[in-house]
Amino acid sequence: MSYVDEVYELVVAKNPAQPEFHQAVKEVLESLRVVIEADEEAYRKDALLERLTVPERIIQFRVPWVDDKGQVQVNNGFRVQFNSAIGPYKGGLRFHPSVNLGIIKFLGFEQIFKNSLTGLPIGGGKGGSDFDPKGKSDREVMAFCQSFMTELCKHIGADTDVPAGDIGVGGREIGFLFGQYKRIRNLYEGVLTGKGLTYGGSLARTEATGYGLLYLTEEMLKCNGKDIAGKTIAVSGAGNVAIYAIQKAQQLGAKPVTCSDSTGWIYDPDGIDVALLKEVKEVKRARLTEYAAARPNAQYHEKKNGEHGVWTIKCDIALPCATQNELDLEDAKALVANGCFAVAEGANMPTTLEATEYFQKNNVLFCPGKASNAGGVATSALEMSQNSERLSWTFEEVDAKLKGIMVNIFHNLDDASKKYGLAGNYVAGANIAGFLKVAEAMKAQGIV
Ligand code: NDP
Repeated sequence: MSYVDEVYELVVAKNPAQPEFHQAVKEVLESLRVVIEADEEAYRKDALLERLTVPERIIQFRVPWVDDKGQVQVNNGFRVQFNSAIGPYKGGLRFHPSVNLGIIKFLGFEQIFKNSLTGLPIGGGKGGSDFDPKGKSDREVMAFCQSFMTELCKHIGADTDVPAGDIGVGGREIGFLFGQYKRIRNLYEGVLTGKGLTYGGSLARTEATGYGLLYLTEEMLKCNGKDIAGKTIAVSGAGNVAIYAIQKAQQLGAKPVTCSDSTGWIYDPDGIDVALLKEVKEVKRARLTEYAAARPNAQYHEKKNGEHGVWTIKCDIALPCATQNELDLEDAKALVANGCFAVAEGANMPTTLEATEYFQKNNVLFCPGKASNAGGVATSALEMSQNSERLSWTFEEVDAKLKGIMVNIFHNLDDASKKYGLAGNYVAGANIAGFLKVAEAMKAQGIV
C-alpha cells in the first residue's frame, strides 16, 4: 500500500467519529500524493505524514459559568496546537453548538497549510467551544469568555499561540477574552488578534477575509483571461466574511445578489444593500427577514431541509462564506448548469469533496478556502507585527499589504500546480505549496 494510503487509513482508525477531520486529511493527502510518491521512502522513514496529522498538543477543558437566572452552565473548551514548525500557533476560536474535537482538528489541520501559504511566520492551531453566543446577554457572554480564558491563558502567549475570532467570536468576544488574559497574566501583549482599535487591533482586520477573498478571485480571473467587473455573484453567509466579500465585490464592479444565515436566504436582484445588511447583522444581530422587510424587491426564503438555497440562483461566480459542507454535489450541478465559471471559498471547507471534483471536471475555476480566505489570518499576522513594534499602520498600508499577499498566494499555488503537472488544479497547488514549506522546516528541526 502506498505511504499516503497507509497514513490516511491510520488517521481514520485512530480518530473514530471525526468525519470532518478525515475529510480534510483526505483532501490534503490526495493532493500531496504526487510529491510524496516522488520521494516516498524518505518521507516514510521520517514518519513525516504521521507527524503532520497528529497535533503537537490538544488542550480540552471544562468551562463553567453562571447564566442570568443564576443557573450554572457547563461547556467544553478546546485548543488544538497542531503544528509550530514555521511559527507560533495561530488560528481562530469558534463558539458554536456544533463544535467538537473533530471539527477543531479539521480546522487546525487546514490552518497549517493556509498559514504557510501566506508566506508569514505562523504555525497552525484552532480552538473553540460548543457555547452558543446567540440569544445570550452581554453579561452572559462575558461570564463565559472570562471562564474560557481563565483556563486557556495557561497555554497561550504572544510568542506561543495567538488565537483570533471565527464563527461566533467577533469583536465583543475578543474584547472580553483579552481583558481576562491581561488581568490574570498581568501582561499587555499581542496574545489575540482581531482586537478593537483602541487596544492594539489592526485597521482592515475586520474587512480582511472578505476583501482578501475578492483580491484573490480577481487575480485568478485575470490570469484566466476574465474580468470580475460586471459579473453576478452568489454569496452565502451574512457574517464577517460574507459582508466584506460583498462590499469589495461591489467596489470591483461586480454584483452580489444573495446572502444567507442559518435560518434563511435572500435573493436581491438589484444587488445586496451592504449598509442595510451591516445594520441588520452587525448592529441589530437580527434575522434576514429584517433585510427583506426593508427592500421591496428582495425575496426572502426560509431555509428548509433538502433545499439548495443561494446556489439555485443564476450567477457567474459563487463565493460560499458561511460554514463547512454547505455546498454539495447537487448545488455544484445547479451552479454549473446555470453558467457559473468560478468558485472561491470564503468559509473553511464549505464545498464537499464530490462537489469540488464536479467543479474541476467541468472546468470551473475553483480556489480552496485555505488559499482564498487566508487574508484574515494574514492580516492577523500583520496585527502581531504592529503589536511587536508597538506601532499601528494606516488602513491603506494594511490593505495594500493584504492585496500583495493574496496576489502572491494565487501565484504560489498556480506555480505549484504547474510544476507538478496539475495546471489549473488550485486545490492541489495550494496543498503542495503550503506543505513544502512546512515539511522543509520540520525536516530541519529534527524529530520533534
Ligand atoms: P460569522 O459568525 O460572522 O458568520 C457566519 C455566517 O454563516 C452567519 O451568517 C451564520 O448565520 C452562517 N452560519 C453559521 N453556521 C451555519 C450553519 N451551520 N448553517 C448555515 N449557516 C450557518 O463567521 P465568519 O463570517 O467569521 O466565518 C464564516 C466562515 O469563514 C467560517 O467557515 C470560518 O471558519 C471562515 N473564516 C473566517 C475568517 C474570519 O476572519 N472571520 C477567516 C477565515 C475563514 P447566523 O447569522 O444565523 O449565525
